[in-house]
Amino acid sequence: MYRKTRIAIAGAGIGGLTAALALLQRGFQVEVFEQASAFGEVGAGIQLSANGTRCLFALGLRQDILRCASQPSAKEIRHWSTGDTWRLFDLGAESVERYGSPYLMMHRADLHAVLVRHIRAIRPEALHLGARLTGFEQSEAGVELRFESGHTAQADALVGADGVHSRVRQALHGDDDPQYTGCMAWRGVIPATALPAHLRRPVGTNWVGPGAHVITYPVRQGELINFVGIVERAAWQKESWTEQGTVDECRADFNGWHPDVLTLVEQLGRPFKWALMGRAPLSRWSRGRATLLGDACHPTLPFLAQGAMMAIEDGVVLARCLDGCPDDPATALQRYERLRHARTSAIVLKSAENTKRFHNPALASADGAQAYIEKEWAADKVRARYDWLFEYDALSVDVGGHAVPEAA
Ligand code: FAD
Repeated sequence: MYRKTRIAIAGAGIGGLTAALALLQRGFQVEVFEQASAFGEVGAGIQLSANGTRCLFALGLRQDILRCASQPSAKEIRHWSTGDTWRLFDLGAESVERYGSPYLMMHRADLHAVLVRHIRAIRPEALHLGARLTGFEQSEAGVELRFESGHTAQADALVGADGVHSRVRQALHGDDDPQYTGCMAWRGVIPATALPAHLRRPVGTNWVGPGAHVITYPVRQGELINFVGIVERAAWQKESWTEQGTVDECRADFNGWHPDVLTLVEQLGRPFKWALMGRAPLSRWSRGRATLLGDACHPTLPFLAQGAMMAIEDGVVLARCLDGCPDDPATALQRYERLRHARTSAIVLKSAENTKRFHNPALASADGAQAYIEKEWAADKVRARYDWLFEYDALSVDVGGHAVPEAA
């Protein structure tokens, strides 16, 4: 039995799908419109901290996620040239004990597939492919969506989960002004069997160096090692923001780095390059019956690994707010925005601050690095930087409505 309230979601990324599942479980009539002709995610990994796994598990995804995730025992910091190693924080049982939920690492396509499967199990016809939203009109009575194909659709509310180039954001708030942040990302996944044993350990590693850093971690139960290399570059020359690069070009960016980093680079196959664009946090997200979610409203540098976690939290809080007043979507969307705005803005700003920390000139020499790392990654500072992220519970934030049912 579906509720009458119809929610249209533009974009079937991790944020749009989480919102869709959370809404379907509360009985809303949900339609997700995705521009791509096939479902998928970029061939890269994603770190899921406790604030995200808490939401996903409450949506009933625990078993499916644990079946394909990696659960590393710790995160380490390593020096770019000497390879010296420091413990950043313990994960595994420590994350569960401290935050009530694990810290996991997954292939994005695996998480995406789990979400799609659970949505289709509730409502097989909820997901529409090849449906590129070009505009919408809203009135007292509802929202009419327009698609490139010429089709239209009706809904009671519209959620723009359509990513960093959001069409819904543009329609609500006008053109934005993305700035190139001065950093680009190399991304790829490496078959673990191609690497020596010490690079396959179940840990996440942050290699830090002057002007660049590298993140590696296992995904798909250790079958693959995810590689992200962030490099400062004066300008991004290409019009396209995402493109394929070569191992030669990537190797040149890590010239002089520790042999372990170069071993990883050699195995990248065909790495992708991403320009990292920045935007100041929006002051408003919603207007009437339309709102935004995920990268559409708070795109961020990935230096706290929280972009998708925020999108997941958004989806859960949004569904809870709509559940609290299903017949008055505009009020529900205002409540959602009020509950989410301060936290997501803070994460965007704190993520940008990490650029200086990860790329600090003090890291250049081994001696300077030792003192710098011991100061910047001292246990109390690490707690101050991460506890507020991981402790947040989107399921118990007071939305002024009903309590959240825990899925079986
Ligand atoms: P998207 O994933 O961008 O999805 C938007 C969807 O909307 C797409 O499917 C798109 O095709 C569709 N769409 C767009 N326009 C239209 C339209 N007009 N009509 C219909 N559909 C449309 N976050 C983490 O939490 N942990 C990490 O470890 C992490 N690592 C990262 C590493 C890197 C290098 C980068 C760049 C980012 C990382 N992030 C991480 C951030 C994370 O990837 C994003 O924040 C997250 O994917 C955003 O999800 P979303 O659903 O909001 O948007």
